[in-house]
Amino acid sequence: MRKHIVAGNWKMNCTFTEADELVNGIMEQLEEKELPRETQLIVCPPLPYLEMTTDYANDSYFLVGAQNVSDQERGAYTGEVSAEMLESMEIDYCIVGHSERRQYYGETDAIVAAKVDRLLAHGLKPIVCVGEVLEEREAGRQLEVVKRQVEQGLFHLTAEQMQEVVIAYEPVWAIGTGRTATPEQAQEIHAHIRSLLAAKYGQALADEVSILYGGSCKPSNAKELFACADIDGGLIGGASLKAEDFVAIAMSF
Ligand code: PEP
Repeated sequence: MRKHIVAGNWKMNCTFTEADELVNGIMEQLEEKELPRETQLIVCPPLPYLEMTTDYANDSYFLVGAQNVSDQERGAYTGEVSAEMLESMEIDYCIVGHSERRQYYGETDAIVAAKVDRLLAHGLKPIVCVGEVLEEREAGRQLEVVKRQVEQGLFHLTAEQMQEVVIAYEPVWAIGTGRTATPEQAQEIHAHIRSLLAAKYGQALADEVSILYGGSCKPSNAKELFACADIDGGLIGGASLKAEDFVAIAMSF
């Protein structure tokens, strides 16, 4: 059975004190509520808070992910953080190809592919984001756009490497806008991604890859989204900044 995953992307939010409170709030919620065994919670705080978050989590409450990584191995790349550094801090996951990085920092499919390679070489699991912008959806190009992103970002991987990857479908028009994809719209793209994986790597492997939905997911809509056959969880932005909402989403399977 595929792993259910709910990952919180805090983006560039929280002071150190606020981050500390949020992590503690999540742990309190998890002590009150029993998360289903097959649901994996992942917290992706800003880089300066990774150590504090991993210290608290201690692998028992949730796993920890970074929001970004360099596409270079090491050396003179001021301000960058390498996969090797994340590995040395025992970070488990890292988001790659988020639409905000594609849009504001020029992260191309080729850069996404390089970052995925760096992460896998250092034993981290990439959470690779794909998704169309509004104009592409309005032009009916969403399947084609997502296909290109999946193929160019991931299809150089071996089957063994592909098993370590999590994919997040995040329609850009739904991120931070309060406008969620309908379960039908999301399911269509998730099934499309799984069929691309099946054609390239075989159905058995495609059935093992967790595909998350992201885009204004909240406690009130998580259940209907997670009920879809090919939606295996969520990548949560805004709602992951409230401990109660984040854990409520994780309880929505
Ligand atoms: C995201 O940034 O990955 C995201 C899904 O954000 P939000 O939930 O706020 O739309």
